[in-house]
Amino acid sequence: MIIDGKAAAERLRRQIAEEVARLRATHDLQPGLAVVLVGEDPASQVYVRNKGRQTLEAGMLSHGHKLDASVSEEELLTLIDTLNGDPSIHGILVQLPLPDHIDEQRVLQTIDPAKDVDGFHPLNVGGLASGDPHALVPCTPTGCLLLLLEQFDGNLSGQNALVIGRSNIVGKPMAQLLLRESCTVTIAHSRTRDLPAVCRKADIVVAAVGRPGMVRGDWIKPGAVVIDVGINRVQREGEDKPKLVGDVAFAEAADVAGAITPVPGGVGPMTIACLLRNTVIAACRHAEVEGQL
Ligand code: NAD
Repeated sequence: MIIDGKAAAERLRRQIAEEVARLRATHDLQPGLAVVLVGEDPASQVYVRNKGRQTLEAGMLSHGHKLDASVSEEELLTLIDTLNGDPSIHGILVQLPLPDHIDEQRVLQTIDPAKDVDGFHPLNVGGLASGDPHALVPCTPTGCLLLLLEQFDGNLSGQNALVIGRSNIVGKPMAQLLLRESCTVTIAHSRTRDLPAVCRKADIVVAAVGRPGMVRGDWIKPGAVVIDVGINRVQREGEDKPKLVGDVAFAEAADVAGAITPVPGGVGPMTIACLLRNTVIAACRHAEVEGQL
């Protein structure tokens, strides 16, 4: 079975739009998201445009801040301070990567943890690791988890889950979320010995590596659920445009897996939907209103 992430994201965005309409009507609360883009990176520009459009479509406030690549770290930190203090903004996202002269960690640590809808502030990272239900959780792993919960009727308890990749953005928070769902979690990375053998034991495989087609069909346990986070642009001979492919050799793995996400159309669309979801959650906490997401 192919997991349709686009359809799942559409369902989630509809749910979010209904919740926003309810919050506006009954609590006069309109969740607001500020997205800060530094520089001209073409991929980042596309992401930021999509985030702004989908925020508005959900009935939320969208504030875009475009800064020149030469902006100083101090100017960026001053903008974040202003956004931290703005009561109409409940979520702040600084699009990564930042130019080399800016200290990414310093920037992320300046964002008010209550508005940190990317979930990268150390307080939210620590909160997720220590079981704080109020921690804001990174969007991509949240999207993967929602897709997995749908596949397992809401119960992942006892499943052997393998996360390939240990980045702060995907791998580590993904492993924490699966642990929270009572999976037996293995984290594999570039130094893991005999990864194919480790993979063959997994009921759930989440691949977040950034290597096109690395996970082969014969690594997959029959019936396993495979979530492919990888987004790789591959230029094939005879094709004029680069193609997007995941970290899993899709056709091979789809023959063996119980369910698998495609690339594109799998995890990707869930990421922005989860960003909107985090913003609504942050807005409800700020206004001390019981949320329904
Ligand atoms: P990263 O480069 O920060 O981390 C990659 C991880 O893979 C590292 O921990 C490394 O140890 C591991 N790794 C590298 N080579 C390996 C090997 N041969 N065997 C096992 N592990 C190996 O990447 P990231 O930010 O976590 O992103 C991973 C992929 O997911 C990328 O393709 C990225 O574009 C994609 N991504 C997608 C979304 C989305 O919304 N769908 C969001 C974030 C990242």
